[in-house]
Amino acid sequence: MAATHTTENRTVLTFLAHPDDAEILCAGTLVRLRDAGWAIHIATATAGDCGTMTENRWNISSIRTKEAAAAAKLIGATYHCLGEGDGLVVYDKGTIQKTVDLFRQIAPGLVFTHAAKDYMLDHEQVSLLARSATFLYGTPNISAHPLLPGSRVPYLYYCDPVEGLDPLGHAIEPTTTIDISGQMETKSKMLACHASQREWLRAHHGMDEYIDAMKRAAAGRGGEIGVAHAEGFVQHRGHPYPQNDLLGELLMKGT
Ligand SMILES: [Zn+2]
Repeated sequence: MAATHTTENRTVLTFLAHPDDAEILCAGTLVRLRDAGWAIHIATATAGDCGTMTENRWNISSIRTKEAAAAAKLIGATYHCLGEGDGLVVYDKGTIQKTVDLFRQIAPGLVFTHAAKDYMLDHEQVSLLARSATFLYGTPNISAHPLLPGSRVPYLYYCDPVEGLDPLGHAIEPTTTIDISGQMETKSKMLACHASQREWLRAHHGMDEYIDAMKRAAAGRGGEIGVAHAEGFVQHRGHPYPQNDLLGELLMKGT
């Protein structure tokens, strides 16, 4: 085994594309980690500047980052935003550096990001950025920010792609499924902070079930392990990432 279970670094970072992705994909697990004593950071690549039918990009970015910060505050988490544009997230030199610098300042021991294959390319590019930053951020020369204690290649988990399907419609099988039945109320409250998106989804997708869709996804994963609600993850196990399933060891013993 390349690395073993460790609790010496209890800082978790979710690095996802858009405001509200964390609330949909992994907030229940974040609540459980918070309750286990972890410091929680929620970061998004974009400020959600295209998530509107009516506001200009500056107004909606302000609205959405405030919504994300309010959702984070509900669980004592810190919100960060890289300030990239919706639909324009790219894996390039400048964005890699910004991502590494963010990771460097947080020094996470555990990271959640998007599935490598997901319905939206912003998600896939963020997944690449997270993979790069987790690999690099503990390397002294990669960033001008000081190297904090605990900086090393962290545990890395991919959240479920939207609807648990890759872009070709194939179902993703989680390596780790976390019971969040007891955290659904808080997860729902966090998602409800994104009031602008309930309206945007209604206008763009013809959906008026922002929170219900999240609950259905959680119920689907829950049914697979015999509980009411769950979140699924796939652990990254490439060299030199920690190989043991830290998340499962910490949280799969029940609530
Ligand atoms: Zn997204």
